[in-house]
Amino acid sequence: MTQSSDDSFTNPVYYDEDGDVSDIEDETVAILGYGSQGHAQAQNLADNGIDVIVGLQEDSSSRKEVKADGLRVSTPAEAASAADRIVMLVPDTVQTSVYDDIKEGIEKGNTLQFAHGFNIHYGQIEPPVDVDVTMVAPKTPGHLLRRTYKRDEGTPGLLAVYQDASNEAREKAIAYAKAIGCTRAGVIETTFREETETDLFGEQAVLCGGVTELVNAGFETLVDAGYSPEMAYFECMNELKHIVDLMYEGGHMEMLNSVSDTAEYGALTRGEEIIDRDAMQKILDDVQTGEFAREWISENQANRPVYNQHRQAEQNHQTEDVGERLRELFVWDK
Ligand code: NAD
Ligand code: MG
Repeated sequence: MTQSSDDSFTNPVYYDEDGDVSDIEDETVAILGYGSQGHAQAQNLADNGIDVIVGLQEDSSSRKEVKADGLRVSTPAEAASAADRIVMLVPDTVQTSVYDDIKEGIEKGNTLQFAHGFNIHYGQIEPPVDVDVTMVAPKTPGHLLRRTYKRDEGTPGLLAVYQDASNEAREKAIAYAKAIGCTRAGVIETTFREETETDLFGEQAVLCGGVTELVNAGFETLVDAGYSPEMAYFECMNELKHIVDLMYEGGHMEMLNSVSDTAEYGALTRGEEIIDRDAMQKILDDVQTGEFAREWISENQANRPVYNQHRQAEQNHQTEDVGERLRELFVWDK
């Protein structure tokens, strides 16, 4: 059993010394998809001397790119059937249909690997019991994974074992995480459930959903009260970056220490009032019960009517237009 080298965290964290790339050096790895994660993981693996086949449909426009990068390409079904490790790096919404194309080629002793837990956790993909099912999920977009790797640095990642048929699933997943550079920065072990549910909750309540709505509500409150859209945009959108940069660098205290005492007092006494914790809990409940997953799966089956409608509304929001004009003026910011 691999031991974490850092026991100050709740979950095990793995670094370079915890893994051995030779655990997967004899494997043929099928990378299905050549988008953000696919191109980066495939090239980092190939740099370790690992045999990589990229799986893309015959008519995929990414095929040229794969060849230009010096890698082999075949169909997802051919790649999966030739491989020992099959890594699902196509969009989450098409993984079930790609899985149908490749499942014949998944043999006893193979590994099926993901970079996000959605389809396994919500039962959309049900792999055979005699294969390993793991997750290695870099916590950055692919271009950063590749760029930092080439600088001999790495980006942090997550790792999880859903099914351990070989009794070596964890070691091999750590070896994979090492080969793509993630153990240079640290890889946290989690579960498919924890990764999927925290990811969905975070992107809905805080990151993508929460923050856009916070900006829009702040912007609209000021504009509706008669202030200029430019000032409202500057205050509620543009300055957000500077605040978040400080939080990223040194946490809330670094940010609070960097703003005025007036800003800090206002923040400490007023911030709490605008968050509806019951609404947040409801979002988490829907993620945990699978209600959100069911909605999103049927939304995709219906060709995304709700998605398209909301997307259009966001595109038409006044912040889009004001922002485009203001960003053009801020030449010092380029
Ligand atoms: P992407 O959209 O960037 O790339 C998808 C690739 O799949 C493209 O090359 C596309 O041509 C190919 N593809 C699309 N449909 C296909 C089909 N039917 N058959 C074969 N290939 C097809 O995807 P991504 O953002 O790299 O995401 C891949 C996985 O990684 C997802 O599970 C995602 O949740 C996870 N992930 C992404 C990031 C990220 O930053 N992008 C980070 C961590 C995990
Ligand atoms: Mg996400």
